[in-house]
Amino acid sequence: MKNIYFLGECMVELRAMSEATLHQSFAGDVYNSAVYLKRSFAQISTSVVTALGQDNLSKKMLERFKSEQLDTQFVFAHDTKVPGMYYIETDEHGERSFIYWRSDAAAKKIVDFLTPDLVEQLSQGDMFFFSGISLAVIEEGARERFWQIVTQLKNAGVKIVFDPNYRARLWKNTEETKAQYHLAFSVADITLPGVEDLATLYNVHSVDAVIEYLQKYKIEEIVVKNGPASVVTKHDNTLQSHTIIPVKNVVDTTSAGDAFNGVYLGARLSGLTIENAVQLAAKAAGAVIQQPGAIVPKDIFQLAMAEAAI
Ligand code: AMP
Repeated sequence: MKNIYFLGECMVELRAMSEATLHQSFAGDVYNSAVYLKRSFAQISTSVVTALGQDNLSKKMLERFKSEQLDTQFVFAHDTKVPGMYYIETDEHGERSFIYWRSDAAAKKIVDFLTPDLVEQLSQGDMFFFSGISLAVIEEGARERFWQIVTQLKNAGVKIVFDPNYRARLWKNTEETKAQYHLAFSVADITLPGVEDLATLYNVHSVDAVIEYLQKYKIEEIVVKNGPASVVTKHDNTLQSHTIIPVKNVVDTTSAGDAFNGVYLGARLSGLTIENAVQLAAKAAGAVIQQPGAIVPKDIFQLAMAEAAI
């Protein structure tokens, strides 16, 4: 059985439904990707690597992971900390605004839980995924250990996957981000950047410029996402441009990239070609943006994927 590990943070999401009503759910980039991968490729063992607390919301989050058939043996419970949380409000023009409480989240401690024995277990995996958000969340003092772990996994033959997913507010400054991203691109076997993510950091504003920028690294598989415009891949020195069919009824683009990543990686682990993997991933992302929220109802998602039938 193939297996993949997603390391990062999952948060409590609070969405304002009206003046007096909040809808509570769970979301976070790596968790979203894990969910969409597992929903599309049930035969792949899909694990979330994170730290929660011992509070009731943490228990509910763990139950949610299990209800999505995710493997939770790498979900740890911190003694004193609790999960991060965010609140989304949509104004009358459809503009969303977010408030975050995550600076002291349990997930920031994830590296502390990864004992040598557990790292040995992770080394048996096929893929290990982390994002720019995962990197920002890991405490500064734990970064050196994190990179040692990633190097150990790579040396053991685990494919290292990195999505830059840049969120300026999570970083002290761009120098810090660039130093961490340099380490990530240096070790990555697969990367899935969005053009927008890299524009501010490296002054690259097109798919071509992103590919050109990444030339200096030895990354086997580069998948550049550019919204509804296109997806361009580079593998074995072959550049391929993939057409995306724009969705007419876009409701909420939250987690489009996450859904794309999860389904793309699931498809590649299942032996699909890059072309078919992109088509399936784009189908998933297209389905997700036609519904509100990061995680769309399972039946709606599976119906959309059944239509893709690649
Ligand atoms: P992005 O993070 O905006 O680059 O979007 C990630 C993926 O979502 C893209 O690679 C597309 O596959 C898909 N996507 C985003 N926006 C649209 C859209 N308007 N119509 C169809 N697919 C989209």
